[in-house]
Amino acid sequence: MSERQGNGEREEFKAISKIKEEEEYFYKKDLGLIRKMRERADAERRQRELEQRKELHWMRCPKCGSQMHEVELASVKIDRCSECKGVYLDNGELEILLQMQKKHAFLSKLLKESELEK
Ligand SMILES: [Zn+2]
Repeated sequence: MSERQGNGEREEFKAISKIKEEEEYFYKKDLGLIRKMRERADAERRQRELEQRKELHWMRCPKCGSQMHEVELASVKIDRCSECKGVYLDNGELEILLQMQKKHAFLSKLLKESELEK
């Protein structure tokens, strides 16, 4: 093998290596784009499913599926089933009702004690 021929093969090898590096670069870039597109599509699908589920179950009784209506209980609006009369409390409503009950119990006790003093 002549020196000239050896240099040619080295140049050809370098050129092939460069092409492989570029292909790998674009392959990885495409994978990243595909992953981002898939994540976006998954997030949109999850959001759609959430909205559909909410629309399907909104103000429906979890036990009998009947329509629920808002009723006021101690100034808290709770959801009550029109059929089985079950009630549903939103997050935090039970705590408000318990606080009001404690306050009421305290006031009742205070009232009873003041009646005893008479
Ligand atoms: Zn019900």
